[in-house]
Amino acid sequence: MPDYVIIGGGSSGGVIASRLSEDPKTTVCLLEAGGSGNSPLVSTPGAFAALIQDFAINTLNWRYNTEPVTALNGRRLYNPRGKMLGGSSGMNGMVYIRGDRSDFDNWHDLGNQGWSYNDVLPYFRKAERNVRGDSQYHGAFGPLHVSNGDASFKAYGAFIEAAASLGHPQNEDFNGDTQEGIGVYQFTVKDGRRAGVKRCYIDPMLVRSNVRVEVNARAQRIVFDGNRAVAVEFVQDGEVRRVDVQKEVIVSSGTFNSPQILMLSGVGPRAELDRHGIEVVQEINGVGQNLHDHPDVMMIFETRKRIGIALNPLGLIKSTKDLLHYIVRKGSWLGGSVAKIGGSQR
Ligand SMILES: Cc1cc2nc3c(=O)[nH]c(=O)nc-3n(C[C@H](O)[C@H](O)[C@H](O)COP(=O)(O)OP(=O)(O)OC[C@H]3O[C@@H](n4cnc5c(N)ncnc54)[C@H](O)[C@@H]3O)c2cc1C
Repeated sequence: MPDYVIIGGGSSGGVIASRLSEDPKTTVCLLEAGGSGNSPLVSTPGAFAALIQDFAINTLNWRYNTEPVTALNGRRLYNPRGKMLGGSSGMNGMVYIRGDRSDFDNWHDLGNQGWSYNDVLPYFRKAERNVRGDSQYHGAFGPLHVSNGDASFKAYGAFIEAAASLGHPQNEDFNGDTQEGIGVYQFTVKDGRRAGVKRCYIDPMLVRSNVRVEVNARAQRIVFDGNRAVAVEFVQDGEVRRVDVQKEVIVSSGTFNSPQILMLSGVGPRAELDRHGIEVVQEINGVGQNLHDHPDVMMIFETRKRIGIALNPLGLIKSTKDLLHYIVRKGSWLGGSVAKIGGSQR
């Protein structure tokens, strides 16, 4: 029986499994609903644009849609999420940018001890292996590779110049003194390949004998004895299986699935559980409530000049030279994220 069962082998679950199992005396079982995430679509940074699409063969993506949104005239919004070891870090834009200092400090001020920016900064530095080296804001010795972006396409320079002409300050480091301004991002990319949690934390952990990793294993319920979590039931190969736990169950199944599992297990708002005939183990009103998300609005411009990148399948086929360059040398724009530059303003 493992000490810990972790539900969800994504960005957070993969890191927690890796850190816990550094101690050989601690046993860990990691349950992941998706597969191994071994796919060129995942490892090739530029394939991000294909990975987040809503096509039927895309088994690496939960491909969620929202309920109709009143404020959007009843429209549903498409919501991609990673379904694989590494979770959404296997399909995200790889931009390495932390929350703003004020976000953490606000959480702390609301009574969450240990969450101020100064509290969390040492952990960010511990995680990072940044090409910028060790400094007040960065770490150089952690498992998570962070590299500089290549923003050599003319369109990027034009964007930065245009922003400067409008008075926006330039920002050389979005994880430094301030997040304000316009600049080139850093990325969780190493040598032209995605450096997600699978590559940086989970793969190196797989050699440890104190970790058991189950893929295609979808947890459906935490089993309680009174108020204590004693096991997790999961579905794998069409069968319901169960893993008992010695110490703790850690729920790290992402923004949508974590509250779902809690509620299926009887933890959540009583009215919602009653509505679905689920026996209440612990009434907690906040579970599944108060989601804050940021919309991603894409504006795509056509140009005959090769000053940007192609985000459609035809464009990708036209870029065969770039593809070959990537296969041989991990170069071309496919070796980096497509979201190169950006900015923020209060
Ligand atoms: C399209 C996209 C682009 C993004 N771009 C960026 C970016 O550029 N930079 C950045 O910092 N952040 C980005 N993000 C956000 C970032 O990737 C997420 O915030 C982060 O990965 C969330 O981590 P998590 O551990 O909460 O969830 P995930 O990493 O999503 O992990 C949850 C895991 O739980 C598994 N799971 C779910 N249900 C079950 C179950 N019942 N049983 C077992 N396993 C289950 C899932 O399959 C998944 O592997 C992006 C996200 C998306 C979707």
